[in-house]
Amino acid sequence: MSTLSRSFGLHKIVKQHYLSLAKGAECQVTYIWIDKAGENLLCKTRTLEMEPAGIRGIVEDTDNFTLELKMFVLVPVRMFRDPFTLDPNKLVLCEVLDGNYALTGSNQRSQCVKVMEKVKDFQPWFGMEQEYMLLDLDGKPFGWPSLGLPFTAGMTKNPCTVGINNMLGRDISISHYRACLYAGINISGTNAEAFPTQWEFQVGPCEGIEVGDHVWMARYILHRVCEDFGVVASLDATPIEEKKHTSGCHTNFSTKEMRSKGGLQYIEEAIARLTKRHSQHLRVYDPHGGADNMIRLTNQSTTSSFQSFSTATASRKVSVRIPDHVSRSGCGYLEDRRPAANCDPYSVMRALAETCLLGAAE
Ligand code: ADP
Ligand code: MN
Ligand code: MN
Ligand code: MN
Ligand code: MN
Repeated sequence: MSTLSRSFGLHKIVKQHYLSLAKGAECQVTYIWIDKAGENLLCKTRTLEMEPAGIRGIVEDTDNFTLELKMFVLVPVRMFRDPFTLDPNKLVLCEVLDGNYALTGSNQRSQCVKVMEKVKDFQPWFGMEQEYMLLDLDGKPFGWPSLGLPFTAGMTKNPCTVGINNMLGRDISISHYRACLYAGINISGTNAEAFPTQWEFQVGPCEGIEVGDHVWMARYILHRVCEDFGVVASLDATPIEEKKHTSGCHTNFSTKEMRSKGGLQYIEEAIARLTKRHSQHLRVYDPHGGADNMIRLTNQSTTSSFQSFSTATASRKVSVRIPDHVSRSGCGYLEDRRPAANCDPYSVMRALAETCLLGAAE
């Protein structure tokens, strides 16, 4: 067994002994927050004397790990069960404020909460389809055989395939799914994607800010599950050298009116507004001001155009799609296919609400 596979494999079994050791009423709370780049997650764990009854029972902490040696406050905002160390331990998503409790640039959540408050009478629902690519530590697709078989570099397949000649990494998808359910995440499904080591999970629908919290926590759980399997989950928009293999985070959106009889009219109205603000949306649909999507959405056969907005029913090559079943039943939701896999869900939700519901200016 190589050093690498030993560190990823054997010590997980040895670890079970330590996890099975009895402890008192203490509760291990893992604080999780989004880094300054708005793209990666950080975490630290501390002991509370006993299980907190709710989010208010979890004390604030500080993140003093930045290179600038500045102090940031971690404010707990949503609590989940910890699927790694089990009850009563918790995973807690935190907002980051600066030492004076002022907003930091990377805290998109706080801005999004304000917009969700303004539009709450619309009862906005969001559902996100998070795609990811499994990689080995060398940055190559997970399990990619050095001789190029059974997959070839340019390969694209149908989603939802079975058999290891078609896809690799189902153990990760299965484990992640169950861990999310245990944690209390509103995960609604999974499927294999169009590249042999690419997968997707869906979160939602949830009302208001919730889906953003759940997607970020589901991402954290994904990275932790992948640590256990010795594999890397990449949320990059174009994660491998062959840029035609891209990952997105389709965002589905509806209001109470869109979901009710005759709702198609409201869906079409929202799309008309989205048409006019294409470039504004693309600026916040990846963490690099559109640079990632410029590559992801250019010259691709299965995505929409970066330059111009398009819409249609049941087509995959458009910016915003009306799902076939929505068009047939005359109500439901719209699907914005532009957000990249590494998007900040809060920025995407906020843009959708501002454009479709608050009539943001062109
Ligand atoms: P696709 O056919 O595009 O692959 P999926 O089945 O992967 O679609 O995902 C559908 C997504 O739509 C899920 O994330 C789900 O939560 C979301 N969704 C379902 N109904 C609604 C709704 N009324 N409003 C917003 N999102 C919804
Ligand atoms: Mn220290
Ligand atoms: Mn999907
Ligand atoms: Mn997909
Ligand atoms: Mn989709």
